[in-house]
Amino acid sequence: MTLFEKIAAREIPAQILSEGDEWIAFRDITPQAPIHFLVVPKRCIPRINETMPSDSQLLGTLLSAAVSTARQEGLAENGYRIVINNGSDGGETVPHLHLHVLGGREMQWPPG
Ligand code: AMP
Repeated sequence: MTLFEKIAAREIPAQILSEGDEWIAFRDITPQAPIHFLVVPKRCIPRINETMPSDSQLLGTLLSAAVSTARQEGLAENGYRIVINNGSDGGETVPHLHLHVLGGREMQWPPG
């Protein structure tokens, strides 16, 4: 089981913000912004590069979950950023697909 599967199974504690049949959203343990949460599919897909066209419905569901949870967290008015890190150059550290949602401060561009 991956770390995020254990969080979804309540085997490891996390601050869960919202949940659906196929996904869960919880606060990042090392927040990089005043609001920073992850949206994770309950079924483990290692990273976005491993997805297939047959995963497109799930990927859409994850984006919709990110938006609804961002609204719930009060980020809709000022905006927020959604990030997916893929592989070593992308900065991925947990090999279970997740969307980062960051807000509550102005973001910089380009990212580091
Ligand atoms: P990435 O570097 O894109 O793979 O993102 C992994 C994220 O998971 C990092 O932002 C970590 O802070 C976060 N993380 C690692 N362990 C936990 C945990 N137990 N609960 C919540 N977030 C975690």
